[in-house]
Amino acid sequence: MKSGASIHITGIVQGVGFRPFVYNLAIRFGLTGWVRNTSAGVNIEVDGSQDALESFIKALREEVPTLASIDEFSASLGGPYGFDKFEILDSETISGAFQPISPDVALCDDCLRELFDPKDRRYRYPFINCTNCGPRFTIIKDIPYDRPKTTMAGFELCVDCAREYSDPTNRRFHAQPVACPICGPQVWWESVKAKGRIPLQADEAVSEARTALVRGEIVAIKGLGGFHLACDATNAESVRELRRRKLRVDKPFALMLPDLEAIERHCYIDEVERELLKSSARPIVLLRRKPESNIAKEVAPGQDWIGVMLPYTPLHYLLLEKKGDFSEALVMTSGNLSEEPIATANEEARERLSGLADAFLMHNRDIYIRCDDSVVRVFNEQTYPIRRSRGYAPFPVKLPWQTAPLLATGAELKNTFCITHDNYAFLSQHIGDMENYETLKSFEQGIEHYERLFRVKPAAIVHDLHPNYLATRYALQRAEREKLPVVGVQHHHAHIAACMAENKLDGSHPVIGVAFDGTGYGDDGAIWGGEFLIADYKNYQRALHMEYFPLPGGDAAIKHPARTALALLWSLGMDWDERFAAVAEFGANDRTTLLTQLDRKINSPLTSSMGRLFDAAAALAGVRQNVNYEAQAAIEFESLSDVSEKAEYPFEMNGSLVELRSAFKPLITDVLAGVSVSVIAARFHNGLAKMVTTASSRLRAETGINEVALSGGVWQNITLLGRTLSLLQNRGFRVYLHREVPANDGGLALGQAVIAASRMRD
Ligand SMILES: [Zn+2]
Ligand SMILES: [Zn+2]
Repeated sequence: MKSGASIHITGIVQGVGFRPFVYNLAIRFGLTGWVRNTSAGVNIEVDGSQDALESFIKALREEVPTLASIDEFSASLGGPYGFDKFEILDSETISGAFQPISPDVALCDDCLRELFDPKDRRYRYPFINCTNCGPRFTIIKDIPYDRPKTTMAGFELCVDCAREYSDPTNRRFHAQPVACPICGPQVWWESVKAKGRIPLQADEAVSEARTALVRGEIVAIKGLGGFHLACDATNAESVRELRRRKLRVDKPFALMLPDLEAIERHCYIDEVERELLKSSARPIVLLRRKPESNIAKEVAPGQDWIGVMLPYTPLHYLLLEKKGDFSEALVMTSGNLSEEPIATANEEARERLSGLADAFLMHNRDIYIRCDDSVVRVFNEQTYPIRRSRGYAPFPVKLPWQTAPLLATGAELKNTFCITHDNYAFLSQHIGDMENYETLKSFEQGIEHYERLFRVKPAAIVHDLHPNYLATRYALQRAEREKLPVVGVQHHHAHIAACMAENKLDGSHPVIGVAFDGTGYGDDGAIWGGEFLIADYKNYQRALHMEYFPLPGGDAAIKHPARTALALLWSLGMDWDERFAAVAEFGANDRTTLLTQLDRKINSPLTSSMGRLFDAAAALAGVRQNVNYEAQAAIEFESLSDVSEKAEYPFEMNGSLVELRSAFKPLITDVLAGVSVSVIAARFHNGLAKMVTTASSRLRAETGINEVALSGGVWQNITLLGRTLSLLQNRGFRVYLHREVPANDGGLALGQAVIAASRMRD
């Protein structure tokens, strides 16, 4: 006796080989019927015996393709419907419906094998891909995910590709970006000096690029989510030249190495890092470099960690192929000037990168949406994200409850935005620092794209309280234009809420939130950043914070830790002793000017920022008086810290304040006594970890709350994080860390969204 079943599945089920998987299962169990993508997921109707239907449904749930992830699965029995065969129907657009979209996926092992198989028809073809790998998010213009709605639309399939595409037993069945040397995209070589395209076959173009890199030149290479600027990472002169052209003084460059063996020659890696490097997201992983590595120090000045990734496109594999005397380490930094967004279109790249690169390795598969490489590190054997972008975005964070459709616009630096729909929070890829017109444009285009892709018309727009953030201004202007309500969310509350949300807390009870970062607008107008909040999703109470001190010049002081150090000394009534490098940095006149500014409180906002406190400590210890990128002084201070040192600078508490004098007094005594920077750095870190634990214990005694959430950019300091975590756990606290989104401002929009959603729920 035949009966039927009707099945609806949502989650990441498109662009991941799901329909062929369903087709093959149906054939295996002798079922008839159909499967089809809709803009809401995948629908299936089948006829078969009761037994076969049950086995089919079981297998559907249990044998899911690697890249797929099922959120909801509903099956109802009915029918039979009277089907006579099994087929894959055309996709159906359901108005208003939406579903998650797969991130881009690194080249799979099967395709890698074919890429280097001389007998394969895609031998050395730089765009080889299949249902398990290739571009996704960066080429998708709209849903449902089908070739005409991608940037592959213009490439008509040749007879052979069409056959593979329509054969359900083929591993390229319905692989939307499928292509071959006959019908697909091509690469070519362009020299900046020769001004124009040089007609070379793919292989010749790649070997031109390799030759240029060996010569020490800088090559712009079109990738998955944008252009990279590449040079030989073992050639110090090339790396210096790239820094000079990119106007990037010290900020580390990312590297690409051909395989794990090569990485192991230059860096220490453990099993978790190895898995992360090989994962289909292929992030940049921060690794500790080996002293014997010949990678130029100029790649990451003053740091013993370097960011390394494996190749993720076929073009990368061809470029880094091991043969001849080619370098086994390339700098692969985003193709942009300083902090502008990464270049994506060919014409745009020619305009913006010609002054930076000597030549281009171009191709004609368009990048629809810009997506930088992701950056992660491993902490306590798990992923600790630093920049969540290619390979992860737009994979959603699942929320503990359904929410109204919202747009949260994020922060000023490391901006990402977040769109909610049902119980999904779609946190965008890295947009960047909103300090130039290009980034703002990229932010606006990104929002438009997400709203279209995920079928969201925001019911409200959420913003930071800082009135001058470009993201805040966008939110206010757009809300006024479209007559939408706005929700303002305090910066550090958003950090803690982001941490709570990704840890799946339902918000029914508050946590102790320790939000440490560089800058965030406080509700008293001061610059906050060393905060202990008792927070749930709706509200927060500022229970404790670091003592205020003035920041002469406001945000401008961020570039000059020496100024911050002097302001702190002034605030604590301590002498500007010339033996401090920070004091010696200023001439007598400048000191007088600074003193007047402090005395008269001219443009000297008060701050409780932990980031600035790190700046001041690092400057006083003589590490660095001026910085070339955000948090440079703190990063170098951390990397100097002596792990064997056990002493600490004590922070005392007075009412709702954490006092600075008790810790800075012994610190400056140590500096003047000539104690080594490594010991001073360690004592500072130890003192802070102890202080967080003491403060949390006090708040636990007052409130009964035993859960602590650590968020904010300062928690990227692994030394501080490690020490604090073990102290808190020793005292029996349950501690929540970031594992899905960054602790820094890159995760902020998620927190903004859940706070607004929670406030709007009742
Ligand atoms: Zn593949
Ligand atoms: Zn073809």
